[in-house]
Amino acid sequence: MSPNFSTIELMTQTNESLFERGQRVIPGGVNSPVRAFRSVGGTPYFVASGSGARVTDIEGTTFLDLVQSYGAIIAGHAHPKIIEAIQKAAVDGTSFGAPTPREVELAEAINERVPSCEKLRMVNSGTEATMSAIRVARGATGRPKILKFAGNYHGHSDGLLVSGGTAMASLGIPASAGVTDNAIADTVVAPYNVVPTLDETFAAVIVEPCAANMGLVPPAPGFLEGLRSECDRVGALLIFDEVITGFRVARGGAQQLLGVTPDLTAFGKIIGGGLPVGAFGGRAEIMDNLAPLGPVYQAGTLSGNPLATAAGLAALSLLDDDAYALIESRAECLAGAFVNAFGAAGISVCVPRFATLVGLFFGDTPPTDYVSACTTDEALYAAFFHELLDRGVAIAPGAYEVMFPGLAHNDEVLTAISDAARAAAIAVASH
Ligand SMILES: *Cc1c(COP(=O)(O)O)cnc(C)c1O
Repeated sequence: MSPNFSTIELMTQTNESLFERGQRVIPGGVNSPVRAFRSVGGTPYFVASGSGARVTDIEGTTFLDLVQSYGAIIAGHAHPKIIEAIQKAAVDGTSFGAPTPREVELAEAINERVPSCEKLRMVNSGTEATMSAIRVARGATGRPKILKFAGNYHGHSDGLLVSGGTAMASLGIPASAGVTDNAIADTVVAPYNVVPTLDETFAAVIVEPCAANMGLVPPAPGFLEGLRSECDRVGALLIFDEVITGFRVARGGAQQLLGVTPDLTAFGKIIGGGLPVGAFGGRAEIMDNLAPLGPVYQAGTLSGNPLATAAGLAALSLLDDDAYALIESRAECLAGAFVNAFGAAGISVCVPRFATLVGLFFGDTPPTDYVSACTTDEALYAAFFHELLDRGVAIAPGAYEVMFPGLAHNDEVLTAISDAARAAAIAVASH
């Protein structure tokens, strides 16, 4: 690549200097806590560009990337079809505050793939999607309480910000400061993979159908089926948070793969093709409680944004059944590579996999809930993270995140990751 003017200009900066500047004007220097590298130590790399499976930082170092924007990217960075869709859309204007055709098309595209979403509404993040799904569930049932599972993350709205996994787990905070007791008074937290007993005060149960924010913790056999029937028994709604699993694990999401149908589903990440987006949907009679049809208010200046819907539609168009089969075989290969790498190094590790998702747990027994997930050896993860990064492979800078192989992680990329993982594991073992 011959450097153009802007790359030359970027090369004069270092990650260190930019992080220092960032910390002066942005709390912690980042706009989402995990990016600050607190749990692994060191200085974050500032990304200048990405292409396919690779990201290049402002110092010109290229990494094979398994972060993939924490799952927002599945076709690889800067996929030509998605970039073209965004560019075309941008020329026609970026936001109008009036309905645009692609909002209807994206809702139709989701509905066709996920039939339980008879009606949908677009929002701007996964946080908004789960927050609004809960509001409509409360509005539809007239009940106050919700149940969430420890270690499931549903974004950062007040009522859901308890036992949230990921960065909260890394920082060791059970609930956020700034969230009042009142705000979480109607939130009940239960252990994952155990069917709770509900009563008629519950509006909804919200669950990650495969937990992917406390490492990767797949649902135990019967867990989701049990939830479905317990919700039905008391008339509570079942909400699947498919912000990660939606369009990631199968064309119809985790609900298709696992054969359990929720009343409401929250989406995000993939459906924006890398632009800020979310959506929630469900049975028409529930969704019709939303304004302007019903009394549950929900709105958004930028919701259904022309660029985001263009990117989302382009991303979905790349994802047929063959694409998922391909990514799943790569996930299998990736998981095998990590198992072999740590085996060779004599480090005990579990590499859970759910369809196209891969986790990494430093311990002997695969975790089944938040308590067991938190026993992962965070120091070992941090050591491995840096050894791997030094060898040109980027995984998330947090022990409770998962890996996101996608359409760009071809055999050549996987072989390189496998080699790096083996060398990194051996280096960690000799620390
Ligand atoms: C990322 C995530 C969210 C929040 O989405 P944002 O777009 O970051 O607000 C919600 N639920 C799950 C399962 C997620 O992984």
